[in-house]
Amino acid sequence: MDIEARINELRDKLNKAGYEYYVLDNPTISDYEYDLMMKELIELEDKYPQFKSPTSPTVKIGGEVLDKFVKVTHSTPMMSLGDIFSLDEVDDFVSKIKKIAPNATFVCELKIDGLSVSLKYENGHLIQGATRGNGRIGENITSNVKTIKSVPLSIPYLEPLEVRGEIFMPKASLVKLNLEREANGEELFANCRNAAAGSIRQLDSKIVAKRNLDTFIYYYLGPVSSQAEALAKLKDLGFKVNPYAKVCQEAIEIKDYINHVATIRDSLPYDIDGVVIKVNEMDLHDLIGYTVKVPKWAIAYKFKPEEVETKLLEVTYQVGRSGVITPVANFSPVFVQGSTVAKATLHNEDYLISKDICEGDTIIIHKAGDVIPEVVGPVLAKRVPGAKPIRMIKECPCCHSPLVRYEGEADYYCINPNCEERIINSLIHFASKPAYNIENLGEQIIRLFYKEGYLRDIADIFNLATYREDLIALPKLGPKSIDNLLVNIENSKNNTLDHLIFGLGIPNVGAKVAKIICERFNTIEAILAASYEDILSINDIGNVIARDFTNYFKDENNLKLLTKLKEAGLRMDYPRIEIRTNSYFSGKKVVLTGSLQNLTRDEAKARLELLGASVVSSVSKKTDLVVCGEDAGSKLTKALELNIKVIYEDEFIKLLEE
Ligand code: NAD
Repeated sequence: MDIEARINELRDKLNKAGYEYYVLDNPTISDYEYDLMMKELIELEDKYPQFKSPTSPTVKIGGEVLDKFVKVTHSTPMMSLGDIFSLDEVDDFVSKIKKIAPNATFVCELKIDGLSVSLKYENGHLIQGATRGNGRIGENITSNVKTIKSVPLSIPYLEPLEVRGEIFMPKASLVKLNLEREANGEELFANCRNAAAGSIRQLDSKIVAKRNLDTFIYYYLGPVSSQAEALAKLKDLGFKVNPYAKVCQEAIEIKDYINHVATIRDSLPYDIDGVVIKVNEMDLHDLIGYTVKVPKWAIAYKFKPEEVETKLLEVTYQVGRSGVITPVANFSPVFVQGSTVAKATLHNEDYLISKDICEGDTIIIHKAGDVIPEVVGPVLAKRVPGAKPIRMIKECPCCHSPLVRYEGEADYYCINPNCEERIINSLIHFASKPAYNIENLGEQIIRLFYKEGYLRDIADIFNLATYREDLIALPKLGPKSIDNLLVNIENSKNNTLDHLIFGLGIPNVGAKVAKIICERFNTIEAILAASYEDILSINDIGNVIARDFTNYFKDENNLKLLTKLKEAGLRMDYPRIEIRTNSYFSGKKVVLTGSLQNLTRDEAKARLELLGASVVSSVSKKTDLVVCGEDAGSKLTKALELNIKVIYEDEFIKLLEE
């Protein structure tokens, strides 16, 4: 391949990966693969400057700035960092610096794997939180940042001040969040960084508040003479500062620090992806200088992901409640990055084929984003000649009916509604915490009751009491545990309708969607009478959900199940919220613009709707009122042009309270 073609290929691949990582928060390649491609591209562009381009990923910082947030222009750019991957490169970095500034010292810090944030304070109060965005323009995330407990809302410093640092999700919070997402049938976050980025860019601050995000602040943009002094000042002002920073004089100390950090990395409660080495003396920063993308006075030493070899035992196939078939690699247990793992998902047929694994292979395992075990690939040198490639099965491993792969989808499905594994998994889902939350009715007991013939569908759960004596006689169960379980089942019948709707396992209907639908249609009768168009007319509901939802209630078997559940005495309604008809806002079409300081967009919208307003997204002649927060843009201009009444936050809050 010629040089130009390779450069273009690398740019395309890096741009695609960057979009998936920064915008979708859903990377498809490892950071290490990305970093290696970037390194190759930087080297090629240096060697062949005729191919340099101002739009190359080598000069771009971060991703696109999302439109859903108000934009913020950074007073000084928020830069990225150059990367190095070996200890020899530490020597090179130090000697380059010492050539320019022989007396320079260095501060080594942990490289926290999250996303950068800028915090601005005025008169001692937090007035703005912003993402890095593309380095020049970021997203205003003030109300989300305010939900993070370690971010001080006020500081003992009255001059205007900007500080910068990292927002991250602790490892334990990611595990908890992913468990909840799994139970809700939502896609899992690949790692702490993606979970943090996905969380902080939620429009609803209430969701952000639940995500347990945290911060370490490391840049102080006020007057200081050294980075070490900056860290001490930040700590005094009440910011959370990482305790591992260390001042080093020479390359050898820096390398010792890196080696030490590598040994404690797994035991830290948050993810790090390297060590940042910064010149300590602030007056040297301008002297040493900057590129368009990174400061030359700092560098990031990145850890290579730990990879281990193990023996593939077999690939098994899981059948989900929707019938989706997931291939899973089972291998000899290995210890990798802090825990022992023995399984990794192979997702679907395309992924399985791309991994090119054969029976009996030795395979390489790592943890994607330090959390989820992943098969990197086979060790070809250790492959037994003639080993059989592993391919997707064509029959359900449980009921043996032929599998179906729909056009445009990557997954295979078992479409037999009576498939045992599908039924068992639907029962597990129904009883799970986010759904019907029946305590003590977990997977093991469901499998046992299924095997013994007491459970065949969800309605059977509510008939278990009839078999009390038989259940007590089952192995490892006794009167106490069975009676407890039966009480829990009886009590669960009071769950509001949204829990039932979610528990039914309708494709694409998660807990949140179930709640939104029940808020609109408060009874099962209203839901059954709702058409596809009625469901689609609900804000936040798209056509796939509306289609799957209404199709579910057209199926005879599903209707029979509902009748049985109703007869069993399950609650079939959701409390109706009274909408006011006599408030200041009743009957008005209201537009919200800019960021409100005292409540989130979603809160404002919900309160307005309760007061009888309809909240619309764009300003037109039909708009009655525009509520204006900080940094309002074109909507405010348009409202003024059209002579539409505009109120500001103070007045808005007063009217809400009245
Ligand atoms: P970076 O994450 O490699 O380094 C710069 C960032 O480090 C800073 O912006 C800051 O947020 C952070 N940081 C953490 N601790 C710090 C500290 N103590 N001091 C200073 N900064 C600190 O660079 P980037 O531009 O944010 O992202 C590029 C990286 O993202 C790539 O190197 C790659 O690893 C990853 N990436 C991966 C994919 C993928 O598809 N897997 C795609 C795009 C980017």
